[in-house]
Amino acid sequence: MQLLKVHPAYGRRYTSPEAIQQDFLIGKDFSVCMAGGPYMSIRDFFNDNLEGFDGVQIVQVWPMLISLVLLRDAMKDGYLCECGATIGPFDSVCTSCRKQYEMGQL
Ligand SMILES: [Zn+2]
Repeated sequence: MQLLKVHPAYGRRYTSPEAIQQDFLIGKDFSVCMAGGPYMSIRDFFNDNLEGFDGVQIVQVWPMLISLVLLRDAMKDGYLCECGATIGPFDSVCTSCRKQYEMGQL
């Protein structure tokens, strides 16, 4: 299994893996090098830029070590809104109840 290892970009810091996963799913940038850039997002899994990769391993080292794996197959499903509707990948607004998702950064 080939995973692309990436890190939160632009100094974003998180307190939970759920918050990182949410931000990845809504299409925020992540960086391939820990020091910054080049940048990627979930869009790269849908436009064939990352052919050959089965998913990402997202690692945050500071201020709290968080590591999570998100597989390509799971990205397609998007995520569930509080209202029960499904929100597609790289969409941060629920088309059903209009709730906007911007998650838990420090
Ligand atoms: Zn909703």
